[in-house]
Amino acid sequence: MDSKEEDKEDCRSMDVIEKSGEMAVCLLTWYDTNKRDLPWRRDPTPYHVWLSEIMLQQTRVQAVLGYYARFLSALPDIAALAAAPQEQYQKLWEGLGYYSRVNNLHRAAVKIMKEYGGEMPGRAEELALLPGIGPYTSAAIASIAFGEAVPAVDGNLLRVFARMSSYGDNIREPAALKAAKAWFQERIPQDRPGDFNQALMDLGSLVCVPKEMPKCGECPLSALCQAHLEGREMELPVMPAKKKRRMEERTVFLIRCRNEIALQQRPARGLLAGLYEFPCAQGKLTRDEAVAFVRSLGFSPVRIRELPGAKHIFTHIEWQMTGYEVLVDDAVMPASVFLTDRADLEGRYAVPSAYHVYKEIALADL
Ligand code: SF4
Repeated sequence: MDSKEEDKEDCRSMDVIEKSGEMAVCLLTWYDTNKRDLPWRRDPTPYHVWLSEIMLQQTRVQAVLGYYARFLSALPDIAALAAAPQEQYQKLWEGLGYYSRVNNLHRAAVKIMKEYGGEMPGRAEELALLPGIGPYTSAAIASIAFGEAVPAVDGNLLRVFARMSSYGDNIREPAALKAAKAWFQERIPQDRPGDFNQALMDLGSLVCVPKEMPKCGECPLSALCQAHLEGREMELPVMPAKKKRRMEERTVFLIRCRNEIALQQRPARGLLAGLYEFPCAQGKLTRDEAVAFVRSLGFSPVRIRELPGAKHIFTHIEWQMTGYEVLVDDAVMPASVFLTDRADLEGRYAVPSAYHVYKEIALADL
């Protein structure tokens, strides 16, 4: 019998442990042997836990590792983040997506410096008052970095809850979240709440996986799991029908003037807020319409060529992009557009990955 099997057998034989305690014991015994070795777990300061939790929202662990190391090396603490210029922290986030996360991270760091003397507050209730920190993240930070016994209910925990308790209603409804919080609150141990939450995160990522058959044979909770006992693992959780993504057509312009290229900054609010992009127009423009658009920006087009199309998928929107490269003479530009060189396009301005096809073309010719 290997050590994983032994952990499971030990757990199942603990018939003196009450049901709520039994789950924690089984889970934590499994976690002590199987937990993922992640950099933020080696030194779980409030800043490290916070940064990792924000980066991990909507993003896989593997994709986060490099970003986490680079971000910490450039901005090692809350004071450094609060003092950093927007261009720097956005550039460190370039390619990670969901950029409002880093803007809120910075706003929260400024608030912590001003209102909390540079120390992160330790209770989930207070943490939830900081920009970008919602109920899940506040509970994750409070439990992992400060030892508060609050469940951090994300998609992983909702799935485990639905299967373990055979919860048959729509898991995306607020009532499901409320029920899951109450269910985990009864089971979270006072002495290791952060490990309990992290164990459930690992269990949901590695064993009680979504969309495919969970690995119940490896699960430390299988003897306590209603869905497993009833053979309903694949029926739960109950998900709502998916909404269709909205399609948006846009035309992207690589406007070259000698050895520079035009960029503009996106609005401070909304999708990709505050990031930099190549000038764009709504819709799929013809060549003549494209020339007219570039003129309307104050440029004098000399030559135009069509570029390959590209698409980018956001959560609720899909961009279908048409591209043109336009060579121009000197320009009288509107204040919203400016010219930049290769060094700044690469090292200074954060251009979202939605434009990576056009950024590659731009860099190849600069
Ligand atoms: S027994 Fe299976 S369905 Fe139940 S929690 Fe474990 S992996 Fe998930």
